Amino acid sequence: MKVAVVKETAPGEPRVALVPEAVAKLRAAGLEVLVETAAGDGAWLSDDAFTDAGATIVARDELAVAADVIVTVGRPDEQVIAGLRPGQAVLGMLAPLPDPEFARRLAEAGVTAISLDLIPRTLPRAQAMDALTSQANIAGYKAAVVAAGAFGRFFPLLITAAGTARPARVLVLGAGVAGLQAIGTARRLGAVVSAYDVRPETKAEVESLGATFIELTSVGPASGEGGYARALTEEERQAQQDELTGHIGRQDVVITTAQVPGRRPPVLVTADALKSMAPGSVVVDMAASALGGNVDGSRPAETVVTENGVTVIGAGNLPSTMPAAASSMYARNVSALLLYLVKGSEPGPPALAVDLSDDLQQGVVITHEGRVVHPALAESAGGTARVDGASH
Ligand code: NAD
Repeated sequence: MKVAVVKETAPGEPRVALVPEAVAKLRAAGLEVLVETAAGDGAWLSDDAFTDAGATIVARDELAVAADVIVTVGRPDEQVIAGLRPGQAVLGMLAPLPDPEFARRLAEAGVTAISLDLIPRTLPRAQAMDALTSQANIAGYKAAVVAAGAFGRFFPLLITAAGTARPARVLVLGAGVAGLQAIGTARRLGAVVSAYDVRPETKAEVESLGATFIELTSVGPASGEGGYARALTEEERQAQQDELTGHIGRQDVVITTAQVPGRRPPVLVTADALKSMAPGSVVVDMAASALGGNVDGSRPAETVVTENGVTVIGAGNLPSTMPAAASSMYARNVSALLLYLVKGSEPGPPALAVDLSDDLQQGVVITHEGRVVHPALAESAGGTARVDGASH
């Protein structure tokens, strides 16, 4: 079986889907690995490093013809999609849910599409494949570093002959994977950290990192399914914003990470909250996206300074700013999933063994044998899903 790594072409995307260490692991399992010329350049990985690990460097045209499975970070670009042939597979963070048309197109092309961002995260055996978690850890760390870099004062308490600096007050909103990593990093930099989340179960995790958990009196617990938050009602949302505003005004730095699956990110820092902050304060919005973010007026990948001197940093794609670490962790997720998927072909030669009766595969396989098979997409694609346990 030939696994092929394409060079990512999306603007600002220097990550690569496999790194040499992962190539060696796949080679040891009997898989061949093809890597597009210069695919690792953005992550400081040379073609030679891939060759040394047992990969073959090929041009894009050759790769598209030879590959059994094309592995990517984000969605493959139009050129790759247009060149796909029946029986080929694509594996990456394909983000198919908001765009059923994309899945339908891949199904029509006879392609098996596997979306790492849909991995069922609560299955213990899926942990090594959980790319959302690996990339969120990176984003949370980098958010604290970005905030410290943009803040014109110190994070730690500093006592010098030239004066004493008080520690920065940092508030982290949303204490999931990224939020907890941001808390830990800000704490290690010496800041006084507090955090808030609508899921009360995060309190113990926040406190175990040495931060203070903020409890709002106006909003009850809002834990949803699968460890995620549920969307708040309009009244809850308003009450939450009002109460949070009082806390935000006392902070030097606010880092926001709140997401609700399948929804627009909730606005937690309103225009009034920004106005209540002192000049020189910094807000990093990790939820900033084309759909909006957690901070009123934040823009994806842009920094704006408000009239009262608050720097608002739209930071929706922080993993790409640490391409070496992000590629390395992502490559582990990709190789773990690939090795899981070829297990079913044993004792024969390695091949993708798609088995839609397997709960992990049901979560990640979105198209197979000409059909949209993922339950969350099948309805909008015309009800063609079959999740009845058939093995293919
Ligand atoms: P996420 O990115 O969807 O959201 C980030 C955080 O924002 C969450 O903690 C959420 O509760 C919070 N949030 C949403 N709306 C909010 C609001 N209005 N106000 C304040 N906070 C709000 O979540 P995530 O970090 O990907 O993961 C969330 C959960 O999933 C965590 O409990 C994590 O431990 C769990 N998880 C479990 C596994 C596993 O079981 N193996 C793996 C990964 C994640």
